Amino acid sequence: MTLDPARTAELAGNLARVRARIEAACAAAGRDPGEITLVAVTKTYPASDVSILAELGVTEIGENRVQEATAKAAQVAQAGTEVRWHFVGRLQRNKARLVVRFAELVHAVDSDRLAEALGAAAAARDRPLEVLIQVSIDADPARGGVPIAGLRQLAETVAKQPTLVLRGLMAVAPRSWAPTEAFARLAAAAAALRSDHPAATVLSAGMSGDLEAAIAQGATHLRVGSALLGMRAPLR
Ligand SMILES: *Cc1c(COP(=O)(O)O)cnc(C)c1O
Repeated sequence: MTLDPARTAELAGNLARVRARIEAACAAAGRDPGEITLVAVTKTYPASDVSILAELGVTEIGENRVQEATAKAAQVAQAGTEVRWHFVGRLQRNKARLVVRFAELVHAVDSDRLAEALGAAAAARDRPLEVLIQVSIDADPARGGVPIAGLRQLAETVAKQPTLVLRGLMAVAPRSWAPTEAFARLAAAAAALRSDHPAATVLSAGMSGDLEAAIAQGATHLRVGSALLGMRAPLR
């Protein structure tokens, strides 16, 4: 596949700016940028952008809609591009069978029923499915996520699924919160979780607008869309 040179230059420039922000935030926090995994969230953007990102060295790719992701993953594979897919959006139980076909890491497990559905679906894979539990920092059910009070119980349910590996936690900072406070609360929940599940070391936090605050609070995975790919059309 030939990659569009203008789009490649645009994404390369965006990527350089994002990497500079990550490096500055790591320097300020006394962290090694090598600890940070940049997940490019390519929702609404075409498979060709995924190929360009891979060419630029970004091979961790996130999507938030099962149908769009399934089609894009097939196109990207067809183009001969190898990437690792992350599913970062809310997932309905009846889509579990589809998501286990392409995703390596599912970021937003937020109920026992979803954990069990993913566990059953992941039996069809030749390797376990890695998952994160999405925490709702303000316990508002609207954006998804389990309230921190329910985290321990849900982690037990995930851990009981032989086909799932609990890798850690994910959260989106509530709009009305200062990101630093939101991610500090997430980090505290993650530390508590690790006393029962020491291998759950992933902290998926930080997007285009708040990645610095996330890095300062210990994020290991950033989910960055618009800062890399451009502003998405509204209504998603
Ligand atoms: C779209 C999306 C992102 C990326 O958001 P940007 O603000 O564009 O960086 C991150 N996480 C989730 C869950 C998303 O749906």
